[in-house]
Amino acid sequence: MTELAYTEPKPKIYAGAKSDWEVVIGLEVHAQVASKSKLFSGASTTFGAEPNSNVSLVDAAMPGMLPVVNEFCIEQAVRTGLGLKAEINLYSRFDRKNYFYPDLPQGYQISQLYHPIVGEGEILVDMEPGVARLVRVERIHVEQDAGKSVHDMDPEMSFVDLNRTGIALMEIVSRPDIRGPEEAAEYVRKLRQILRYLGTCDGNMQEGSMRADVNVSVCKAGTYEKFRASDNDFSLLGTRCEIKNMNSMRFIQQAIDYEAKRQIAIIEDGGTIDQETRLYDTVKGETRSMRSKEEAHDYRYFPCPDLLPLEIEQSWVDGIAASLPELPDEKKARFVTDYGMTEYDAGVLTADVANATYFETVATGRDGKTAANWVINELFGRLNKEGHTIDESPISAMQLGSILDLIAKGDISGKIAKELFEIVWAEGGEPAEIVEARGMKQVTDTGAIEAAVDEVMAANPDKVAAAQAKPSMAGWFVGQVMKTTGGKANPKAVNEIIRAKLGIE
Ligand code: ADP
Ligand code: MG
Repeated sequence: MTELAYTEPKPKIYAGAKSDWEVVIGLEVHAQVASKSKLFSGASTTFGAEPNSNVSLVDAAMPGMLPVVNEFCIEQAVRTGLGLKAEINLYSRFDRKNYFYPDLPQGYQISQLYHPIVGEGEILVDMEPGVARLVRVERIHVEQDAGKSVHDMDPEMSFVDLNRTGIALMEIVSRPDIRGPEEAAEYVRKLRQILRYLGTCDGNMQEGSMRADVNVSVCKAGTYEKFRASDNDFSLLGTRCEIKNMNSMRFIQQAIDYEAKRQIAIIEDGGTIDQETRLYDTVKGETRSMRSKEEAHDYRYFPCPDLLPLEIEQSWVDGIAASLPELPDEKKARFVTDYGMTEYDAGVLTADVANATYFETVATGRDGKTAANWVINELFGRLNKEGHTIDESPISAMQLGSILDLIAKGDISGKIAKELFEIVWAEGGEPAEIVEARGMKQVTDTGAIEAAVDEVMAANPDKVAAAQAKPSMAGWFVGQVMKTTGGKANPKAVNEIIRAKLGIE
């Protein structure tokens, strides 16, 4: 496998009144496992179902009910770990995290605190071609989601919807390796891309399938390097605040920026940062305290007595590893090497699997660079304009491939190809048949081209003289002949004939 070389981006520096500051960020991303049923019950996970319709007796925590581990969910967590090049722990264990909340009927959440299923991994966060940051992943643990309390349906009452209760989540925890708001957003984007490639989470942030808790601290510029050189000496870093439940890249960036500036102002004013949980108010554009660490619950974690430790076999893990698809970094590097395209173009084409597959169908057996140009500029440009995804493209990869074949054979010029593209886009059909039926074929018959050239020259004797004196003016004739032939004359042949008739090289 080839890898693309990169250098690290510069950390974002905030100029305070007294000194320069850096922001340090670590993310805990909750990714909902793409599974039809829940982590410990057979209830459905369908989004948007009638409230409380996807609830089994286990999810409702009826007395005497016992959880049964959904093997598929565990497999997805392992798959995700392998996709993040992480250690897979053959022994892991479920713990109870005890707290009371109306939408948590059990009175505890089953999670993995002490022995998560996935250990250290990494995510390469691309900032621009050739610039990326390797962010370390600390762990991934599997846990249940809670239900949803609804407070805005009645002035007097709150409602509880347990459909989400018990759905499997993977909590993916990064090291504090992220050095700016844009990097944090790109981290989430890259993680989502990998999860989608793996198929382990749909990454739909609007539906809450992916949400991030963002930990932010600030320190004087230069301090972070000392932290990295140390053996995880967190006392070198500033106190962190955790911004809960962010579900948009834009808000993640805004919240970090706001939070960094807030912390810097407090410290420069002689104050200290309280470790607390905060919420981002998207309307006011500010973070607000939700609870401080002093008020933090003591969750009284203990091993869940209803579940045996999870012991998995290396051979099972190996089987999952063997079934992993080609992942974004590998695909991008391969596109750069195999098709000779830029890293930027390779990034666009590998943004999601559907784009990449479409491109490769077009490129196979054809010129890779031409295929990349057409897919990115014509097709994606057009799809974006109409707000379509690649799956909704009116032009299939086979049809676009046929258009490129017609250009390669010299049957149509690039200009006519664009017209043909429009016709296929609007009406569908087999490109070669359309060219035939509508007389769009390029004129390569030199006799016909010569006649057209003679006609233009006879009508413009002054231009003939001018072009003979100044050969660069021959281009004017090319333009005229293309016009009289409706763009169908082969430009190369036109050029040659004009130059021969003018007697210039
Ligand atoms: P908790 O659940 O108590 O928030 P976790 O260990 O699950 O603790 O997550 C802590 C997160 O905070 C990790 O992503 C970690 O990288 C990040 N983090 C820890 N210390 C700092 C710091 N000083 N500044 C920014 N992020 C930090
Ligand atoms: Mg946390």
